[in-house]
Amino acid sequence: MKNYGALIYVFIAGTILFGGCSAEDSPADYPIRPVTFTSVKLTDNFWAPRIKKNASVTIPIAFSYCESTGRIKNFEIAGGLDTGRFRTIYPFDDSDVFKIIEGASYSLQTFPDPQLEAYLDTLIYKIGMAQEEDGYLYTNRTIAEMHGGEGLHDWASPNRWELDSILSHELYNLGHLYEAAVAHFQATGKRSLLDIALKSADLVDKDFGPDRVKVYPGHQVIEMGLVKLYRVTGEKKYLDLARFFLDIRDNGDMYNQAHMKVVDQTEAVGHSVRATYMYSGMADIAAIEGDEDYLDAISKIWEDIVCRKIYITGGIGATGGNEGFAEPYFLPNMSAYCETCASIGDIFTNHRLFLLHGESKYIDILEKTLYNSMLSGVSLSGDRFFYPNPLESNGQHSRQAWFGCACCPSNVARFVPAIPGYIYAVTDKDLYVNLFASNNAEFMMGERKIRIAQRTDFPWDGNVEISLFPETPGRFSVRIRIPGWAVNEAIPCGLYKFDGKNDEDYLIQLNGDTIIPLVENGYAVIEHKWDKGDQIAISFPLPVRKVKADERIRDDIGKVAIQRGPVIYCAEWPDNNTGNVLNLVLDENAQFSTEFDPSLLNGTQVIKTSGWQTRRTLEGNVDLLPGEYITLIPYALWNNRGPGQMRVWLPLVRERARPLPAPTIAFNSRVTASRMTNLLPAVNDQDLPEHSNDRSVSYYHWWPAKDQWEWIQYDFEKPHTISSSMIYWFDDGPDGGCRIPDAWEMLYLSDNIWKPVRARTKYTVTKNGWDTLNFSPVRVSSVKIKVRLSRDFSAGVYEWIVR
Ligand SMILES: [Zn+2]
Repeated sequence: MKNYGALIYVFIAGTILFGGCSAEDSPADYPIRPVTFTSVKLTDNFWAPRIKKNASVTIPIAFSYCESTGRIKNFEIAGGLDTGRFRTIYPFDDSDVFKIIEGASYSLQTFPDPQLEAYLDTLIYKIGMAQEEDGYLYTNRTIAEMHGGEGLHDWASPNRWELDSILSHELYNLGHLYEAAVAHFQATGKRSLLDIALKSADLVDKDFGPDRVKVYPGHQVIEMGLVKLYRVTGEKKYLDLARFFLDIRDNGDMYNQAHMKVVDQTEAVGHSVRATYMYSGMADIAAIEGDEDYLDAISKIWEDIVCRKIYITGGIGATGGNEGFAEPYFLPNMSAYCETCASIGDIFTNHRLFLLHGESKYIDILEKTLYNSMLSGVSLSGDRFFYPNPLESNGQHSRQAWFGCACCPSNVARFVPAIPGYIYAVTDKDLYVNLFASNNAEFMMGERKIRIAQRTDFPWDGNVEISLFPETPGRFSVRIRIPGWAVNEAIPCGLYKFDGKNDEDYLIQLNGDTIIPLVENGYAVIEHKWDKGDQIAISFPLPVRKVKADERIRDDIGKVAIQRGPVIYCAEWPDNNTGNVLNLVLDENAQFSTEFDPSLLNGTQVIKTSGWQTRRTLEGNVDLLPGEYITLIPYALWNNRGPGQMRVWLPLVRERARPLPAPTIAFNSRVTASRMTNLLPAVNDQDLPEHSNDRSVSYYHWWPAKDQWEWIQYDFEKPHTISSSMIYWFDDGPDGGCRIPDAWEMLYLSDNIWKPVRARTKYTVTKNGWDTLNFSPVRVSSVKIKVRLSRDFSAGVYEWIVR
């Protein structure tokens, strides 16, 4: 056990929390304290407009969806302010309202808004009414009990809490309530939501315990929420309860990290949002109680993620089936899950690990995730959201206005306003500069008040100027983070590496003189007797770097990603010749040039290089077409101009590209089907799978239809004589809803009548392989396959070839 000593720590301080406490009697917490976002005013062109957009667009529309979908009505009905049944789909829908209140509270601190504050008051009144006498708050059950138990969600048990470890999400909702309550209290000084939260937490504390209910939270987050309640109130019982919820995890599911004791876990497994929330809660308790076992476990897990399970964009969670972590090095690009919430959760975890250890590698991951996988989660307009954030698209992905399960938009709403809080951190004698963005900040370093001004055009430009204005001159260390990307490290641990070395070094000047500070834990440590107006100038080289992946990541073999500073670039359809980018091959020897385009995507740096398009020939070879320029944009900005092709990992060899299809009969056909969706082009794109559940290849499906006939039709450009047909089925069993169909039949159009072909071979239905049908030659212009879906499952098609 280690004691970090007595330090005042205010997580998100709008008000002083430990009123009257002196440094000596304040409780232990993180040895490094973040400078909260309320103390940092961004003046930059990158983040400040996004935070403003979050306040003016994201939060209002998120609330309006909560109104229109019935999420708020649920509180009104549970509170007796209206009548009826539970209005929404999921029992965790309450949590979205709490998360947006949290975001709105943060936002109020930057953009005071009496109207929004009044709206929150009304909302909090409704939440208070929905809370039962004894403090229980879960609108689904309360409403169901008004109807004799009818309408209780399938995921909940007739007894409170009983199914929380599985799916009821009772404690999950409350975790978000506690976080919202603390944010609202700190933003407004009002206790209204905090009192609701404390009444709830007291009930949870009464109901749960070693000799009472011993059910672990099925979706973690209450651990972090309880720690925040502890910090606000100083009541240790909330901290003990958080620890209880962590320590009872054992002998449960791997899906929610309950397969073994948390202190024995060494690998990141299961649902990635639950995982990162849990690791963050463990870090909080490790910081406060100096728990080495917790620290040890999360350090090993961190290594497992960073060395084996993270995407180059900082995204985590490779697979959709479990919304979470897959096997090490299994990181497919087109089907990458990389949930926006998981990016946010991983930022929470890495920030906490930095506050514990003061090492820059945690901020390296945080920065990479922030600029890429997290930022991709929201459109430039602030009103469209990605749930998964894939690294490759054939046009099938699009940000949505809202989701039935709305965790991601509400998480964006609460995360974005807090971004300035990740820039600085302090101890009594150290000032950490973690992120680079123009801002003015004012905060306390121990007893010393200090003002700081940062000027930079980062991430487009690597020059950063920092001016310090301590109220009284004094000696302390300024620790400037030297990002991995500035010293030839693409990511800590080497899962991805820069191709070649950049010899250009970063430069640091103090008041105009070049200095060579000691680098400790990834920070250039500048010790100095600081006085008003002292200036540090840093110049980071920002060359365009090619990144290569560990060769165990199969999907990235023979390809490179392009990185500049922390920003990962991609090729997207509108910027490139024919709208195709999946078929591009990069010229390995090509130079890169960069330019700022003020009119593109609200102003962005683009990278230009050169390469070739590829096309498959009728003989099956791949041709390089004449050389052309390739334009790359920051990955986070893709899909702001409509859906289409996008690719982060660019092939260096033609074998790794997806060539333009050969001009086959199928490719030149007009394709129609019983369900017209944007997935239909997959059936004749000549992009062939390796097996029936190959998510790296696009496919067409009829899900959720089942137990009926469906069809796909080709209308040829001109009549052709054909005598064979080949089909490759999609089958995502055992988890998904598609299986190979029961049967299929091939027809051709003759005199406006569909006739079956005269088969010369048997009809087969094969998983993980082709079904080839030979038939008597017919000269036709239109053919069709009819597909009989099985009784319990839908079906899908990767490719349909006719010859
Ligand atoms: Zn989410």
